[in-house]
Amino acid sequence: MQHLYVHVPFCVRRCSYCDFSIAVRKRIPANDYVNAVLKELGTANPAPAARGLDTIYFGGGTPSLLPPEAIVTILSAADPGPTARGDRDREVTLEANPEDVTPDNARAWHAAGINRVSLGAQSFDDGVLKWMHRSHDAARIGAAVHALRGAGIDNISLDLIFGLPNELERDWEHDLDMALALRPTHLSLYGLTIEPRTPLERWISRGATAAPDDQRYADEYLDANRRLTTENYEFYEVSNASLPGYRSRHNSAYWAGKPYVGLGPAAHSFDGRTRRWNLRAWEAYRRAVAEGRSPLESEETLTDEQREIEAIYLGLRTVEGVPFAAASPRRRLTSPPPHLAAQGWIQVTGDRLKCTPEGWLRLDSLVNELTMQTETQ
Ligand code: SF4
Repeated sequence: MQHLYVHVPFCVRRCSYCDFSIAVRKRIPANDYVNAVLKELGTANPAPAARGLDTIYFGGGTPSLLPPEAIVTILSAADPGPTARGDRDREVTLEANPEDVTPDNARAWHAAGINRVSLGAQSFDDGVLKWMHRSHDAARIGAAVHALRGAGIDNISLDLIFGLPNELERDWEHDLDMALALRPTHLSLYGLTIEPRTPLERWISRGATAAPDDQRYADEYLDANRRLTTENYEFYEVSNASLPGYRSRHNSAYWAGKPYVGLGPAAHSFDGRTRRWNLRAWEAYRRAVAEGRSPLESEETLTDEQREIEAIYLGLRTVEGVPFAAASPRRRLTSPPPHLAAQGWIQVTGDRLKCTPEGWLRLDSLVNELTMQTETQ
């Protein structure tokens, strides 16, 4: 089993909160992009296809800006075997912005082998979408879902952002209602964070926008957790909920610490011990590949201790949690930390330690505390 990530860096504009590695372009240099990715793929050792691909994920950026033929070319090159297209056992995800999902595109993606689409919906409030600098309006989200289903792509995930500044008066309940009415198989919920060098950071620093409110962030997160659970969704990871049988297999591989190969600018690869990542900027990546140089920017090999802490962190992100004997005898938890359980942040089921939704809200500090505790036990 192997997992392939393909980073498509292009966007038509930068969203107000986004610090991803993107290249804003009116016209997508699709040929240059495909040539670069194919060349990088040709140097991957071993080639992803040689080990059989279980999941392929086109992320970005905005992969739905690529012409469908470009997606066909990359998929065929990544796995030229007879099962490359339409293989139901393989999860092939495309991140898409709603405005790119036309019936024609949806049919072409389906024919290419895409069987899962992650839609960047973010909100169903046109005022909020404008504030976010999104390029779609609310009506496009439902139209996109219908176009995908009409083309035979039923496995659809919606992204929503919560915890927006109070002044926007965003009606989170209404947005959840609208999302649930579309009955997606999967929802990803991300809290707004202020990242350096984004339009949002600049607005806040000059007082044009208030900073997001912590209480609102917590209330909306816990509210979504309750709502989705009563609607038969399982919050299987801190930011992700799915109907039964529709967890993201690709992202689940990351959280399980499995190896993966990444192609494209800023893409990361991991072999179980060493993490490597490519040059972030599209032009620098393109030039390196075109000149026959490695597009690798850097790499780090995790020590045993780093791997153990990472396993605890990734495990606690998921609903499965971690075993007390987390990663090695050195980090064995002999009993649940009582004060964390008393606060209602963790719970113990059998031999596993899990975060509650309240615990997920403070995951980083909780992991810090747990890993310090395991060191002193
Ligand atoms: S579409 Fe996605 S990647 Fe592109 S700017 Fe917006 S949030 Fe960032």
